[in-house]
Order: sequence, then structure tokens, then C-alpha cells
Amino acid sequence: MKIPRILVIAAAATLSMLSPAAAQKPEPLPVMASFSILADFVRAVGGERVAVDMLVGPDADAHVFTPAPADARRVAAAKLIVVNGLGFEGWLDRLLKSAGSNAPVVVASRGVTARSNEAAHDHDDDDHDHDHDDDHDDDHDHDDHAGHDHGDTDPHAWQSVANARIYVGNIRDALIAADPAGRAAYEANTRNYLGQLDALDRDLKETLARIPAERRHVISTHQAFGYFTEAYGIAFKAPVGVSTEQEASARDVAQLIAQIRREKAPAVFLENISDPRLARRIAEETGAKIGGTLYSDALTKADGPAPTYLDMMRHNMRTIAEALAN
Ligand code: ZN
Repeated sequence: MKIPRILVIAAAATLSMLSPAAAQKPEPLPVMASFSILADFVRAVGGERVAVDMLVGPDADAHVFTPAPADARRVAAAKLIVVNGLGFEGWLDRLLKSAGSNAPVVVASRGVTARSNEAAHDHDDDDHDHDHDDDHDDDHDHDDHAGHDHGDTDPHAWQSVANARIYVGNIRDALIAADPAGRAAYEANTRNYLGQLDALDRDLKETLARIPAERRHVISTHQAFGYFTEAYGIAFKAPVGVSTEQEASARDVAQLIAQIRREKAPAVFLENISDPRLARRIAEETGAKIGGTLYSDALTKADGPAPTYLDMMRHNMRTIAEALAN
């Protein structure tokens, strides 16, 4: 498991020469988040004291992001950089170097229990009481090919609300370190937001618990919902692994289609960051219905169905519950 380099946050010396009037309304702290979900957490905790920018915007795929020179300039302007870690931002180290940034980098996932894609397969197998014996043969076949995603760290930890709470606590601590004068505001915003996360977590558990056990398995485009499965008991399979960098092989897709036919998965979901063609083909060949679009790795713009993390998780919850209702 690759553990991202964690930089200890040194409280940057803040301007202490401000006049009393200016001190009341400080310049917002410029914070760069690596992708849209983290930017939303920073906004929730930072409120008016921060000016949040992001590298990978709404509906965009952070797995395959290629920073441009303009991104390095934006990073150089930030006083705090917030990243996911768990191998999500493979492009980060090079970008920080080219930006020449000395800003502290907070790894928002620090403290979550990381899972690997291999664990996802084991978990799925345990979940199905009607699994066939030949599933084990499938697993052996998978292990044979080089470059397959088995064993990769799954970076999508934000898909469990319990983990989102950890992210938010790390962001709060980093903002306090970077802007000590804002401590009271950051702590109050965090308390308020954690309350909203608790309500969300309860809704997710109650709503998804009503889905009958035999319908609790679905297909998505890439393996982004492993933490969601652990938290909420809906099993996901996907033709693409925990990163969208690797394409599904014809053999993987054929095996998945055979498995879906045997297990009669009720629904296939599209994702906002992924090409829908493969999921559509799987739905056609298996008779599973398209259950709608899930938001896994990116929020939508303000006028879409998932402009915030809270909206995203509720949208996914409703979409799954409607698709799996009898
Ligand atoms: Zn992903």
C-alpha cells in the first residue's frame, strides 16, 4: 500500500501588522483543493475566511488529470493545499515541484482505514449467499494477468460518511494551523457541518436498509463504491478498477457479464466522470436496467443534481433506492 507523504503543517506566520479594521475583515485564506469534493469540505469548514480553488473541477476525472502550466501558477498562489491521498492524485508531487510551492499540504484522508480493490472482491463474494463455486476460478484467472488492479489502494474513502467526518476534522485542524485567528469560526462551522453529516449518515442507513437483501447488488462503471459497500451494504461490481487509468479488458468484461447474468443484478449505474458506453453495453447484454447516474469522484456544477457532498450522497441514495425498489 502506497502511503502518501504527509507534510506536517507549520503554521504560516500571518500578517500581524493589520489595522484593527482590516483585522476584522481579513483577506480570505487562499486554499487549493485537488478536486471538487474536497473543495466543498473546505468551503463548509472555512466559510467566509477561505477562498477555495480546485484543480479538478465538477464532472471531471481526477484519476487521469494532467496539470497545465496555469495549474502550477494557481497552486503557487495557495497558502494551504488539500489533497485526498491514498494514491488518488498521482500527478501531485510533480505539480507541487513545478509550482515551487512551500505551502503546507494536508492529506484529508489521514486516519481512515484504507481498503484495497482485492478486499472489494472478497467482500462482494461474502455478500452473496447465492454465489456459485466457479467464482473462485474467476478470481484465479484475474490474478494471472499482469497490470490488473487487484491489490491497488482504493482512494474513494469519501464514499462513506464516517470517513467524510475524518476528512472534515483534518481540514479543520489544517485551517486552524494556517489561520489561527479563525479557530473559533472553523470550530463552529465544523460542529454545524458534522451535525449535517450525521443526519445524512442516518438517512443513508435507514433508506438503504429497506432494500431487499436479494436486490442489494448492482453494477457501476468503475470500482468507486467499495467504502460505500462497507458502510451501507450495497455491493458494487464494475468493469473498471479503482482507477479509471486502466481500461477494462475484453476478458474482464466478458467475465463480468457472465457473472451478472448468473446473479441477476437488478441495475447498472452510469457515472458522471466515466464513459457510459461500456455500462450501456453491459446492461443490454445482461438485461439489467440502467438505474441512473451516480456521482462517485466529482460533484456537478451548481445547477446539477450534486453541487455539494451532501447533495451528492443524497442523490446517490435516492437513485439506488429507486432503482432497487420492487
Ligand atoms: Zn474513481
